[in-house]
Parts: sequence; C-alpha cells; structure tokens
Amino acid sequence: MNDSPKLFIGGEYVSASSAEIVRLINPATEEQIGSVVDSNAADVARAVGAARDALPEWRNTTPERRGAYLTALAGVFDGRRDDMAALVSRHNGTVISRSRQSNAARPIDIYRYHGELSRSFPWESVVDTGSGSSAIVRREPMGVVGAIVPWNAPQTLAAQKLAPALLAGCTVVWKPSPETSMDAFLLSEMLNEVGVPPGVVNVVTGGRGTGQHVVGDPGIDKVSFTGSTAAGRAVAASCGQMLKPVTAELGGKSAAVLLDDAPLDVFARSLIGTCLPNTGQVCYSCTRILIYRNNVEEVVDVVLETIGRAAVGDPMDPRSEFGPLVSAAQRARVEGYIQSGLDEGARLLLGGGRPAHLPVGFYVEPTVFIDVTPEMRIFREEVFGPLLVIVPYDNDDDAVRLANDSSYGLGGSVFSRDLDRAKDIARRMETGSVLINGEQRSERIPLYGYKDSGVGGDASLAAYLNIKSISGPRG
Ligand code: NAD
Repeated sequence: MNDSPKLFIGGEYVSASSAEIVRLINPATEEQIGSVVDSNAADVARAVGAARDALPEWRNTTPERRGAYLTALAGVFDGRRDDMAALVSRHNGTVISRSRQSNAARPIDIYRYHGELSRSFPWESVVDTGSGSSAIVRREPMGVVGAIVPWNAPQTLAAQKLAPALLAGCTVVWKPSPETSMDAFLLSEMLNEVGVPPGVVNVVTGGRGTGQHVVGDPGIDKVSFTGSTAAGRAVAASCGQMLKPVTAELGGKSAAVLLDDAPLDVFARSLIGTCLPNTGQVCYSCTRILIYRNNVEEVVDVVLETIGRAAVGDPMDPRSEFGPLVSAAQRARVEGYIQSGLDEGARLLLGGGRPAHLPVGFYVEPTVFIDVTPEMRIFREEVFGPLLVIVPYDNDDDAVRLANDSSYGLGGSVFSRDLDRAKDIARRMETGSVLINGEQRSERIPLYGYKDSGVGGDASLAAYLNIKSISGPRG
C-alpha cells in the first residue's frame, strides 16, 4: 500500500470518492503520523457491493474450509504480532505490554479458536417434532455484516466480529475507528496473504458519518456495533426502523467488590488489570471499588501504594503501566470528570492533574477519589480514563445494592478468600461478566451487556446466523 490514504475493497487498495480526510495523531508525541479517508456514502456503497458480490461463493464454501482460512490467518498474524502490537500502540497510546495481548495474542487466539469451532459446531441438526416426525434445523449466514469498531482494543474487538462472521459464511464491511485504522490495513494484508477471496472483508475508514452510512446501507444485512452507549442507541434506533438485526456492545461502569476477607495481595497484583486496564479505557474496567467499611483504611493504602508507584510514560516503553489517553478530546473529557468530582464534593486522594514529567502527550495522572456518593457523576457515568472511585459498604447486601446501582451492566469483579461466597455475590450482580480474584477475561466466553451496556451483545457465532427449519411429511 502506498502512502496516500486508500480503502480496502474487493481485495485491493483503491482510491476513495470522498476527498475528506482525518488526520492521525500519535497521542504520546502529539505529532501527525498519517491520515485516512473519511469515507462517504458512495465509498461505503462500493464496499457493500464488493461484499455482496463475494457473498454467494463464500457462503457456499464449507465451514471447514472457512475455518481453515481463519487458522491460516492466526498463523500469519502470529508471525507479525510485534508489528501489529506496536502499530496500534503508536496510534492509540496503549502501553506496549498490553497491546501485545489485546492487539496480538488475543485476536490470534480468537481466529484460532474459530478455526477449531468450524469442525464441532452443529451447523445442521435433526430435531424430533414430538408428533412422530423430525425436522432439519439449519444455521445459515445472515449475509453482509457491517462491523463498526472502537479504538481501545481494535484488533480484539475486530476479531470478535470478523472471526464468527466469516466462519458463519458472512462477508464483511469493516469500519474501524479513525484513530486505529492502519492496523485494519495491516490485517487486510494478512487476509490477502492467506488467500481469503476478494470482497469477503472490506475496510472503509472514517468517523461517525461513515458509520451511519454503513448502518443505513440497504445492502448491509446485519450490524455489529461496539462503542459508546450514546452511539449504540442511535445505531440500534436506525436498525429498529429497518428491522435490521443488530448487536450492540456498549459502555460500562463496573464494580470491584472487595468482601471483608478479600486477599489484598491478590487484589494489589491485579488492581491495574482489573480496575484501570489500558489507562482506564476498557469497557469492563471496574472503576468503582466497593470496600467493606471496616477495611477501608487498609484497602485505600493498597490502592494508593499500587497506583502511586505505577509507571506512567511512553507507551512504547515495556515498563510503562499507564500511557496517554487516545486523544486531546478524551483527555479533556476525563479532566472534566475530575473537575465534576471536585465540584460535587468528592475527596481527591491521588492524581487529578497532568504528570509533570510528561509535558507532551495526552497524559492524565491516575486519579483516585473517596467520599463518593451514588448521586455523583463520577459514580454513575463512564469516564473512560484513569479515574477510580472508592465507596464503603456495610454488609454483603449493601455491596450488591451498590454494585447494581448503575444504568450499566457489563463487567464486575469480586475478591474473597471464600470462592463459594464470591460466586454467590457474582450471581446476584446485574452484569454480563464477573471475574473472581483478578481472573483474566477469556475471549472464548461471552461478554453480554445488561441494561445500557448492550443489545444482544455477544461475540458468538449465533449472532451471525439465521435459523431455518425444514419439516415435511414422514418420508
Ligand atoms: P464511539 O461510540 O464514539 O465510536 C465507536 C465506533 O462507532 C467508531 O468506529 C465510530 O466512528 C462509530 N460511530 C460513532 N457514532 C456512530 C453512529 N451514530 N453511527 C454509526 N457509527 C458510529 O466510541 P469510542 O469512543 O470509539 O469507544 C469507546 C466506547 O466503546 C466506550 O463507551 C466503551 O465502553 C465502548 N466499548 C464497549 C465494548 C464492549 O464490548 N461492550 C468494548 C470496547 C469499547
């Protein structure tokens, strides 16, 4: 691919009809590092056309063959994992140690897993009708998928859509976030390298307007959206008008519940990964820490000690644990939340400003507030930055009540030495996923959004399949 911004359509890098571009800024240096096309309706229609042309042949290949492409993709990706991790970090500021996981190891695992799944999934089954006959139940691809992806873990989030959609037999128009578009082109090179037929995956770059064209294009049969709740509502409303199937994986404001017997050494080790992964820019970050009242002092010490000594710095430095926020706009948003916490009477325990040793880059100090009440915006709203709130509770029921006092329901965690008790609390939490004692999320299990965190959100194969039954008289 040469340097002028292009789109990936029908297996080739083509010029766009739109003359609008989006400048790409390295969030650690504030320098421009490229630009992409802000695709218009004609560009999207061209990509949708290529995906429709590719659909008949792709859907008629066997699942095993499609799975073999995914296995091959995992292999090629494995060989370029360092390039991919570094490319994403330069564009979104994710610290490189995390990017190696979220933009390389995890997506590779997702492609590999779906390659294996092709052989065991019940594509067609025979069901007893209960009246002496039987019916065939088939799972068939929904068609052309519009995949809209945010910037925070672009390769995992894209793989969660591409792998099941392609395995199902769908073709895809993929709209990455403008901030992280170059990694989509790197993946497109890999798709060409493994011989995925032209048009099966197409990349159109651009911002919200491009996303709206993807959602509205009549040639898109299904929309798979990941992003903010506000945008998800708009996308789901459009899809509702068109009766177009949609999955929407949205925001969160998850809670970490520390029971009175929480193992604090385990909590300390997993604190950043559980509560502020990717500098707090992860949908399931547990940014509300709920602590049994008698333990507050002891746990606050652990939080301040762990976060206070974490390295904030250059995302390309393997020692950095916090990097810059993705953009100047995101930093302004987080700073607005810090100010709202102060204005509403919360007490600042740590951070609150910009790190003095990093005058360039969109950095914000990891920030911790206490004396936070459920009415405050920093308790209720998704900040998407390094901001934690600490809230005491009086007993287990109170902890569950506070955890559930949210319009969101995406992630969550429980810390306790008693695993059965921790699981009981987890069962009572109104949320799609709970990790106990700092367990890591697996990409092989679903991530459903309760409440405002999503609609049918699930990165599974079923989200890309129609179900057909065929029944007839006994033959
Ligand atoms: P965003 O909603 O601004 O944008 C997400 C994507 O949607 C981008 O590609 C954007 O260009 C596009 N878009 C925006 N408005 C659109 C519209 N009206 N129609 C069509 N497309 C539109 O979100 P963001 O700031 O890029 O990402 C952060 C958000 O994503 C956070 O709220 C986070 O919680 C959420 N998120 C959720 C999950 C999950 O699995 N639930 C995972 C990662 C991120």
